[in-house]
Amino acid sequence: MLTLSQWSQASELPSLEARMLLSHVLQVTSAWAVAHDEATLDEASKHCLDALADRRRRGEPMAYLVGEKEFWGMMFKVTPDVLIPRPETETLVETALRYLPQRQETRVLDLGTGSGAIVIAIARERPYARFCATDVSAAALRLAEENAARLLREDADRITWRLSDWFTAIPEPRQDAERFSVIVSNPPYIAAADAHLDEGDLRFEPRGALVGGRAGREALQTIVHRAPGYLRPGGVLLMEHGYDQGEEARALLHDAGFTQCETVCDLAGVPRVTLGVYENTGQ
Ligand code: GLN
Repeated sequence: MLTLSQWSQASELPSLEARMLLSHVLQVTSAWAVAHDEATLDEASKHCLDALADRRRRGEPMAYLVGEKEFWGMMFKVTPDVLIPRPETETLVETALRYLPQRQETRVLDLGTGSGAIVIAIARERPYARFCATDVSAAALRLAEENAARLLREDADRITWRLSDWFTAIPEPRQDAERFSVIVSNPPYIAAADAHLDEGDLRFEPRGALVGGRAGREALQTIVHRAPGYLRPGGVLLMEHGYDQGEEARALLHDAGFTQCETVCDLAGVPRVTLGVYENTGQ
């Protein structure tokens, strides 16, 4: 019989990862696993742990192995149907919140919601806002709904979910009241031939959530071109993008008639989110 600490050693995984697998399989906190590392593992748990450690050694992301990932202080369920929420995406949430006054009944659209991380984080911070969240993947949408129900409880009612390829299934609004104050998206923005796709976690994530066409800009373009029809006068479009796409994103927004175009850096200092304001007159 192995103790927890012997299993960790034998797994040859970094100790943090071994501990995450232990707490996942044994259904205990990490702190418990550390404090009880001389406890012995039963056969069934060891079998399960060995299988997970094996998958990890082959490169599968920790988040898929344990089935969850933290974002904005909440635990999101994740599966290989969705991109794993990343810390830099908190910059998108933070920047969007600047344009959503606390006590106003704003309307927010999240395009390509995946696990629902972005829309759920904003909903948590803005109790008066109403939301629409889309994804082209039915499996992703089901997962996002499940996350919302668990993390927001009855507040999840403020989110309408739509199976949609960007704007295609969202009816074009006829009056300002139906338009959105803010549109956010973390679209696929990696170029199809980018070598990073063959490295690390990205190898296991859904290609459709990562690759934005040959040059990585197709989704960004589609969103910028169609967003004006859905924004209130003075509404804001915010999109996450790659480290080298800030200038291009600002140019796209500018050419589509947006003003006050600005790129915001993430905590690592990388240009990550670009936004523009649409001063349409509503017709
Ligand atoms: N930020 C992710 C990465 O480069 C890509 C996410 C995306 O394409 N939206 O790892």
